[in-house]
Amino acid sequence: MTTAPDIQACAKGLYINGQWRPAQGGKVIDVVDPSTEMVLASVPDATLEDASAAVEAAALAAEGWRNTAPRKRSEILRRCFELMTERAEMLATLISMENGKALRDARGEVAYAAEFFRWNAEEAVRITGEFGTAPAGTNRIIVDYQPIGICLLITPWNFPAAMATRKIAPALAAGCTVILKPASETPLTAFALAAIYEEAGVPPGVVNVITTTTPGPLTAAILADPRVRKLSFTGSTGVGRALLAEASKHVISCAMELGGNAPFIVFDDADLNAALDGAMIAKMRNAGEACTAANRIYVQSGIHDAFVAGLAGRMQALKIGAGYDAATDCGPMITKKAVDKIDRLVADAVKRGAQIICGGQIPNQRGFFYQPTVLTEVPQDADMASEEIFGPVAPVSRFETEDEVIARANDTEYGLAAYIYTGDVGRGLRVAGRVEAGMIGLNRGLVSDPAAPFGGVKQSGLGREGGQHHGIAEFMEAKYIATSF
Ligand code: NAP
Repeated sequence: MTTAPDIQACAKGLYINGQWRPAQGGKVIDVVDPSTEMVLASVPDATLEDASAAVEAAALAAEGWRNTAPRKRSEILRRCFELMTERAEMLATLISMENGKALRDARGEVAYAAEFFRWNAEEAVRITGEFGTAPAGTNRIIVDYQPIGICLLITPWNFPAAMATRKIAPALAAGCTVILKPASETPLTAFALAAIYEEAGVPPGVVNVITTTTPGPLTAAILADPRVRKLSFTGSTGVGRALLAEASKHVISCAMELGGNAPFIVFDDADLNAALDGAMIAKMRNAGEACTAANRIYVQSGIHDAFVAGLAGRMQALKIGAGYDAATDCGPMITKKAVDKIDRLVADAVKRGAQIICGGQIPNQRGFFYQPTVLTEVPQDADMASEEIFGPVAPVSRFETEDEVIARANDTEYGLAAYIYTGDVGRGLRVAGRVEAGMIGLNRGLVSDPAAPFGGVKQSGLGREGGQHHGIAEFMEAKYIATSF
């Protein structure tokens, strides 16, 4: 099988009711390769009529899908996993082309994304209810779990495959039909995956994919349809807040995976090399464009200088280039706007006293690149200590005590991921308990796992994806039946 993606096949239309069709208004959205700034393909720009057709298709398919035997649903999901795995190299290349991430990262994403189908294929046949006696002894309590209904899924560009499958796989396992609105920058992967679902046997209308340049009005119209019962969103906290307000008008259940500002804490007693390896993963996976990215690196005084020297050496050794060039370690950012934001954050930190140890420049080449950068003495009032950098910039600051670093780690509105490196597991667990985050990497730079609940506290979100029951529970509603017999 060829590993080169057929770009035009991925851009052949909106995917509604199992058919590929142009947008009603005939308009298109250009998809740009961030490594070259060239247009890769154009996808349809959906209108309100297209959105309404997608809801209609999801509604038509709903009854059949919820009544499909769990075993059958499970087998279809398993087939999605197998097809994604067989075509992993093609999908990884496609992700690299439209998102820019290095092939190594794109391969990792495809494996992670496919795993949601395998995991949920296994979960689809294990959805059970509850049966008990009322405390007064007057009746029995039966609790049944039913599919919540039609789901609107909205995903970002930084993980074009995984953020979609992390929602679609549990929704389908639960018996729901869905409308996916992927990010405008990276729609090709979503369409390539839709073709795979169809081949795996997902019936028409169960998954619908629409792309648009007017997500606000379109999603408002979809949420206003009383048949739509769930909004599952992954993206920025600002857009999440606007969507929560919109959904509240119709009392729609919401799951929100929002922004992060992860602290990466290294104590004096940490294994230095393990901490450096972990920091490179937590900071540089996807060139820093991850919600779980280490955004603030706090290093205890005794190990600080050795850590900074090791980190700078590793960052300087990274090769920047097109994601799909096998030699590349660090691909481009998604847009010029993203590069400009990074540049602004670095300039602000330097103005406030930070030192540039390496990088700190926009390289003079085509594409949306930024140099891998290490900063030290980054003050807590620098903009980058409170905003997501979303790029290859590692801001390091020194700390003295456990209490001090916990206070600094928690000094943020976000609470998605946090990382702790220490040789004392007791201290690690104690600090993990006090850091306000939904996920902690203890002596690990990577936390994502379909078998574990992914999600944040504070302004980082509501609900969890993945995990033994959390992910599917988001797409189910408990129905209680009081009965006497
Ligand atoms: P974004 O700007 O919030 O966009 C996310 C999605 O929302 C895109 O599909 C976007 O469509 C859509 N959107 C934008 N405005 C909308 C509106 N008014 N109504 C409805 N939909 C709207 O986020 P992003 O820049 O793509 O992604 C980066 C952010 O996602 C970061 O904050 C990152 O931390 C977060 N993230 C969180 C997680 C997590 O699991 N917690 C995972 C990955 C990323 P368009 O593309 O058409 O604008």
